[in-house]
Amino acid sequence: MNKPIRRVLIAGGGTAGWMVAAGLSKCLGTQYEIRLLESEEIGTVGVGEATIPTLHIFHEILDLDEREFMQATQATFKLGIQFENWRNIGEHYLHSFGKTGTSHWTAGFHHFWLEGRKRGLASEYTDYCLEARAALDKRFAHLPDNGLNFAYHLDATLYAAYLRRYSEALGVQRIEGKIVKVHTDEANGHISGLTLQDGSLLEADLFIDCTGMRSVLLGETLGVPYEDWSHWLPCDSAVAAQTSLQGDAVPYTRSIAHPWGWQWRIPLQHRVGNGLVYSSKHLSDDEAKATLLTKVQGEVIRPPRVIKFKPGQRDVAWKHNCVAIGLSSGFLEPLESTSIHMIQKGITRLVQLFPVDGICQSDIDEYNRQTREGNENARDFVILHYHVQNRTDSPFWRDCREMDVPAQLKHRIQLFRDSARVMLGSDELFAENSWVQVMMGQGIVPAGHHPITRQMDDRNLADFLGGVRKDAARMLMKLPSHQAYVEQFCPALKPVELLINPQAQIQTVELIDGSQVLVVDDFALNPEVFESIAQSAGPAFKPLPGHPYPGPQLDLPPALTAPLQAFFDRHCRERLRAGKALGSMVRLSRVMQDGKTLDARQRICHRDDSGLKPGEMMSASVHYLFKDEQLGGTVFFRSKMNEEETKLFFHDANTLDAAAFGNKYDIPPGYMTESNRYFELIGRLPAKWNRIVFYDGGIFHSGDIQAPHGAYQSDLGRLTANAFFKSEKLPG
Ligand code: FAD
Repeated sequence: MNKPIRRVLIAGGGTAGWMVAAGLSKCLGTQYEIRLLESEEIGTVGVGEATIPTLHIFHEILDLDEREFMQATQATFKLGIQFENWRNIGEHYLHSFGKTGTSHWTAGFHHFWLEGRKRGLASEYTDYCLEARAALDKRFAHLPDNGLNFAYHLDATLYAAYLRRYSEALGVQRIEGKIVKVHTDEANGHISGLTLQDGSLLEADLFIDCTGMRSVLLGETLGVPYEDWSHWLPCDSAVAAQTSLQGDAVPYTRSIAHPWGWQWRIPLQHRVGNGLVYSSKHLSDDEAKATLLTKVQGEVIRPPRVIKFKPGQRDVAWKHNCVAIGLSSGFLEPLESTSIHMIQKGITRLVQLFPVDGICQSDIDEYNRQTREGNENARDFVILHYHVQNRTDSPFWRDCREMDVPAQLKHRIQLFRDSARVMLGSDELFAENSWVQVMMGQGIVPAGHHPITRQMDDRNLADFLGGVRKDAARMLMKLPSHQAYVEQFCPALKPVELLINPQAQIQTVELIDGSQVLVVDDFALNPEVFESIAQSAGPAFKPLPGHPYPGPQLDLPPALTAPLQAFFDRHCRERLRAGKALGSMVRLSRVMQDGKTLDARQRICHRDDSGLKPGEMMSASVHYLFKDEQLGGTVFFRSKMNEEETKLFFHDANTLDAAAFGNKYDIPPGYMTESNRYFELIGRLPAKWNRIVFYDGGIFHSGDIQAPHGAYQSDLGRLTANAFFKSEKLPG
C-alpha cells in the first residue's frame, strides 16, 4: 500500500505549521498539493520569540527580505543571552553568538586566554569578543563577512502571520477547522484522513503534525510514546506576559535565575515579552503569576498566562506517513532558544529525505536518528546551565547540582575541568565558544590548558591577546546604538487606527442592469494614515507573485481593517445580499503597470470570485486615496456572451499568453475602460479623494485607468485600499 506522495497536509498553524508550509512550498514548489489546517478557536502557544543565528539559514532558503521580515514581526537584533544569578546570586555572564579571538588548530582561543590570565596578561573573556562587547554596550550594525553574528527577537504571532502570507502566495491552501477524528488505514497503520468539526474529511498522502504539545496525530493517534527528561530539566511550567517597552530595546535576551527557576525578558520594537520558567514542585502557578507581575517593568499589555510542558521528546518524530515538527515532536524548555531551530532542522531534514515514490523505512530511520542526536546534544547543553553552578540558596539549585547528568555531558564537563578541552561532533548546534562561555560562566575553572600556549613568551602572548582586544574595541566604537540602527533599518509600522467619519452618508447608485453600488464620500476622518503607511512600507509594498493586480500591494494591519469590516457589517452586508461572514482581507494597492505591458488577464474586466465555493460570494470595496481624479474610478460591465462563452473567454485569459489572447479575441494591450465586443459598460463611478465604493464582487469590473502612464508613477499615484469580504450568499 505504498503510494507516491502528492498531497501534503500540515495539521496546525503555529510557528511550526507556518514554517513548514513556507519551507515546503518554497523547496518543493508546485509538485505537491500543500494544505495547512489550523483552528483559531484552539489558537497557538503564542510564545517562542527568541531565536539563534541559524535562523538566517532558513530565511536564506526562503529568500526573505530581512528588512521586510523585521518590520512585519516588530523584530530586534539579538547578539546573545545575559545569564544573571545563574552561577551565584549577583553574578552574571554573557553567552554571545560571536567567535572569541582566533584559535590555533591545536587549541581554541580560550586556552591562550587562560594562560594569559595565569600570567596576569588577560582581562575579562568578553573583552575579546565583538558580539559580547556590542551586546553589553547596546550597539549593533550589519558588518561585512558576517563580522557580527546575530539572531532576532521577534513577535511569534506576527511571524506566523508573515509566513502565512508568504506560503499562501506560493499556493499553500489554508483551511480553518478543528480536528475531531483522525482516521488510520487498517492495513498499514498510516493516517488516511482527518475529520473536522464541520464534518468535512481531509485526506492526504503525508501528514505533518504541528498540533503543538498535544501531538494529535503522532502522539494521540499513532501512539508514539514521549520520553520524559524532567529528571534532568527540572522546569515544567511557564507563565508569560507582555509589557510595554521601557527605554531602548537591548540586543540580548535576559535570563535571570530565581530560587525556583528563571525569568526571561525579550525586547521587541513594540513591547517586551516576559516570562517565568519554573518547577511546579517549587512554585505554584498562582505564586508564579503574582511573582511575574512584581518582576516586570512597564505596563502589562497581556496578563500572565500559565503554560505547562514536559521536557523531552517523542521516541520517534516520524512514523508511517506522519512527521511531527515543533512542540508535537518534543520540547526541552525555553532556555537557549533551541525550539525554533529544531523546527527549522526538521524542515530541512524532511526536504532532504522527502519521500519520493512512497514512504521508505530507511528514510524514516535516518530522519529519526538525526532528530534524536540533535535533540540530545541541545538537551545536554541546556542541562549544563542547571547542573554546574554554586547556588546554595534553594533546594531547587541544590537538587540540580546533585543530579546525575547524561554520561556524554558528564564526560564533557570533566574534560573541560581537567584540560579546558571541548570536543564536538561534526553536526552539533552549539559551537566550542558557546560551551566555553557557559562552562566558564557557570563557574568551571579548568585545572589546566593546552601546553602549546606556554611556547609564547610574555611579550608574544600579551601582543596576541592585546591585538584581539584592540580589534574588538576599535570595531565597537564604529557601531551605532542598537536602538538607532533598528529605527533606521527596519522601523515597524506604528499601530494606527482607521477612524470612520460618523457623519458619512451612504448613497446608492444603480447600474444599468439594476444592481446596486454603495458610495460613501468623506469616508475616513484620517485617510492620510494610508498614505503614510504606503510611504513608510518600503520594499514590503510589492507585487504579489502570480497575482494579476497591475502594481504593488501591501496587506494592512487589523487596526486598519477592523473598523472597515465593522462598517461593512453594519451598513453594507444586507444591502449587497451578503450573508454570514467567512473572512475578509484589505490591501493597499497602486496601479503602476504601463497598459502596453498588460498580460491577458489584465486587459479585461474581472470578477472577485477566486476560491469561492458554491453558496459563497465576495463583496468588495475600493477606497480612493489619491487627489488627482483623472487617475480614474471604477467601471462596471456585463457580459454579452452566454455563460459557456464567458467561461471559455476567462479560461483563455488565464491560460493563453498576451499575444495569443489578443489575436484570438482582437483585444489590444491596454486597460479596459469601455464596452467592447464581449462586454457592455453598465456604469462608471468617478474617483474622488476619500470616497469608498462597495459592490458585489460578482459584477464584472475594472479600474478606470485612462490617464497618461506617467501620472500613475508620480508620488503615490493611484493609491487605493481594496477590501474583499467573503460571505455566504443570502438565498433569493
Ligand atoms: P502551537 O503554537 O501550539 O501550534 C499548534 C497549532 O495546532 C495551532 O495552530 C492549533 O490551532 C493547532 N491545533 C491543535 N490542535 C488542533 C486540532 N484538534 N484541530 C486543529 N488544529 C489544532 N522557542 C524558541 O525557539 N525560542 C524561545 O524563546 C521559546 N520560548 C518558549 C517559551 C515557552 C514558555 C514555551 C512553552 C515555548 C517556547 N519556545 C521557544 C518554543 C516555541 O514556542 C515553539 O517551538 C513554537 O511556538 C512552535 O509551536 P508549535 O507551532 O509547535 O505549536
